[in-house]
Amino acid sequence: MSVEYKLNRLDTSGVGPLVDKHWRELREAKEKGMKVAWSSGPLFVYSYATPNMASHFMAGYAAYCGGRKMADEVLEAAEKYGELRDTCSYHRLHTGMMAMIANDWPVTDPRVILPLPDLLISGRFCTEMSHYMEAIYRRFGVKAVIIELPVARKTEDLPRIEKYVTDQVKETLIPAIEKTSGSKFNEDNLRRIFRDWKETCIIRNKCWEFLKRKPALWTLWDYGVSIAPIFYAMGKPESHAYYVNLLEQLEERAAKNIPAVHPDGEKYRLYWDGWLPWAFLGKFLRLMVPHGAIPISGRYPWEFFPYPEDINPEADDIIHEWIRVLYTSPNRLAYHDGPWGGKEHIEKLLEEYSIDGMLFFSSKTCRMWNLGQLDIIDKIERKYGIPGIVIEGDMIDSSMVSEDQLRTRIEALLEMIDARRR
Ligand code: SF4
Repeated sequence: MSVEYKLNRLDTSGVGPLVDKHWRELREAKEKGMKVAWSSGPLFVYSYATPNMASHFMAGYAAYCGGRKMADEVLEAAEKYGELRDTCSYHRLHTGMMAMIANDWPVTDPRVILPLPDLLISGRFCTEMSHYMEAIYRRFGVKAVIIELPVARKTEDLPRIEKYVTDQVKETLIPAIEKTSGSKFNEDNLRRIFRDWKETCIIRNKCWEFLKRKPALWTLWDYGVSIAPIFYAMGKPESHAYYVNLLEQLEERAAKNIPAVHPDGEKYRLYWDGWLPWAFLGKFLRLMVPHGAIPISGRYPWEFFPYPEDINPEADDIIHEWIRVLYTSPNRLAYHDGPWGGKEHIEKLLEEYSIDGMLFFSSKTCRMWNLGQLDIIDKIERKYGIPGIVIEGDMIDSSMVSEDQLRTRIEALLEMIDARRR
């Protein structure tokens, strides 16, 4: 390596206090007389909008614990409690937490512990989500409501599935939230959340535009750590302020031509598929950046609300509006997350973000994101000549991440890109 590449990260330090505050408020909710829901999948917006109900978001909390290096101890507690290692690590994290509470096991960092839920809400995209809820119900007696969110195989199926999901939300989920919280679901609250969320996402999307530039002004990892204000702290004024600050930093970089990678910008622009490795973001970057490689774009981080212009906070039927965004809006999240719509979505990202190679992160315990990855790589390589590889690991479980394997695979991908450039 003749050029000495160095990363020039954006200042994303504002996100730490914001997420700490978000989860602290959840931990304090019961002391204020509120009920608590634990939620997996995107239906937590309905409990957020209900007075007297505080809501968590499974993936967000697991990412938070992983990012704060608090996950391993809880995963070990889950194993001690009898959980199998190949159970989804997000699921294990929550079981481990409950086992620690139930058995009064010591914990190094008390921030990892949440109040036990009064209600479990599963927006079931993957099989693990219903297993997770069923297991908590069986072991701890917490009520669970499971709403099926089928991933469509064909676009023609989307309207029919949309109706099916809307009916479940209206007939099952909202009555369960109201019964547990003892309060009425509030449509005005949901409209306010959507208005604020939409406004923040419009600014976030302006930030995304700077990832299309060559050289890039920031990386997918900078965006990854900035996801929380969109994903689960929606509707809060500090989320908006965070993205205003991010946009100002990027505009300043653009004006002064300051790239994300010193000295002259990146040599390899990479697509990243699947979950972000929350507990190992630095480890991955240290294996890429010395080669001049950075992650630029990815399917999962583009999952939440990528088209804010699609959502109508003034829609007559505001309960249905969120399901419409998932199923029949132009983005059709529930289609792009599956292997059938995934390839189409990835092709678009490859072109828009001028991608040189693809890293498909295969989480060893995830039942959903890995589906069809090899098939997608094969089809895209044949069509566009863009090489791709699979790397195995986990988002938060350090016993499943091998640095040697990561190094070998990343270097192999960069060699393939070089060979095709010649
Ligand atoms: S298996 Fe994957 S998609 Fe399913 S709950 Fe776990 S992390 Fe989420």
